[in-house]
Amino acid sequence: MIYKNFQDLKLSALGMGAMRLPVLNQDDSSIDEETAAKMVAYAMESGVNYYDTAWGYHGGNSELAMGRILSGYPRESFYLADKFPGYDLSNMDKIETIFPEQLKKCQVTYFDFYLFHNVCEMNIDAYLDKKYGIFEYLSQRKKEGQIRHLGFSAHGSYDVMKRFLEAYGEHMEFCQIQLNYLDWDFQDAKRKVELLQEYQIPVWVMEPLRGGKLASLKEEDAAQLQALRPEEKIPAWAFRFLQSIPSVTMILSGMSNEEQLKENIRTFQEDKPLNQEEMDTLLNLADTMVKRIALPCTACRYCVSHCPQHLDIPDLLALYNEHCFTEGGFLAPMALSAIPEDKRPGACIGCGSCEAVCPQQIKISEAMADFNEKLNQ
Ligand code: SF4
Ligand code: SF4
Repeated sequence: MIYKNFQDLKLSALGMGAMRLPVLNQDDSSIDEETAAKMVAYAMESGVNYYDTAWGYHGGNSELAMGRILSGYPRESFYLADKFPGYDLSNMDKIETIFPEQLKKCQVTYFDFYLFHNVCEMNIDAYLDKKYGIFEYLSQRKKEGQIRHLGFSAHGSYDVMKRFLEAYGEHMEFCQIQLNYLDWDFQDAKRKVELLQEYQIPVWVMEPLRGGKLASLKEEDAAQLQALRPEEKIPAWAFRFLQSIPSVTMILSGMSNEEQLKENIRTFQEDKPLNQEEMDTLLNLADTMVKRIALPCTACRYCVSHCPQHLDIPDLLALYNEHCFTEGGFLAPMALSAIPEDKRPGACIGCGSCEAVCPQQIKISEAMADFNEKLNQ
């Protein structure tokens, strides 16, 4: 197992995420605890010392299952991460009950790592609002030793992350973002990594395989990679990409079966960053994969002043691209929930004024109608 230095700790470069544990009867809230326990045992034996859970994973049962499983190991033999569930605004005034409950569910007296969960457009105001005092409460827990290291996870845009960092950056010890070779440009991940570097905050990675999308590729795409490293398995490319980014300290993978876990652990026996040719090939491939589905908006903003509905067309198209590429998911609906109703795709009246000036000749009105339909499905 590769280890990374984080302050005075040695963290396994691969962490076990407990959001996609094996389940029974395809019911997300019924964790197959026997199999999960075997997976944790194998991970422990293989040197994985970081385990990541959250209030909302598996309908609230991830914390309970991980608590029961990890209670069989000495407390100092693993690092446990948990998060404040601010992705749900109704939790904002409940931190004083949620945090102690989390310690109880996980059967621990302290968390090694604790995060503001999912800082995004929808909750940034509340997270920064002194009325709720989330930061103040968590800082106090840290002073008292119930939190060893404080950080945040972010699914929001670069600008949202910047706002959060401007407020609390000097107190944040790590940041978890969605990072993989596909999102390097597509989701602005490169700029987010650079922003974190400005604050000297190490990167924790979530979605290294983009929900499994990068675990298997189309035959012609896979062939390009295999020509360069015939022995490397396709999922390993996603991990090798991350091993090439110096500020990446922790890579979390939500593994649902023993086979995935074993495969990932094999990959992390060796640090094998990509060389320049491999990196260029991989990023070109990512570009091709995105272009197959995404609209080629360059965010030039020529169209914006022509829209009688004053829609932020490039921003909406970026969300549309994400939504189409992911075939649904929560990111676009979450970002749209922070936008007034009359600025969402459904407000487009199909006048076509924008299309007349778009240098990319994007059929914007069709995209808005399709987006609206997809959101209402
Ligand atoms: S078609 Fe829709 S997005 Fe384009 S200018 Fe008209 S209202 Fe705005
Ligand atoms: S004019 Fe076309 S390319 Fe430019 S921002 Fe608008 S939709 Fe995107």
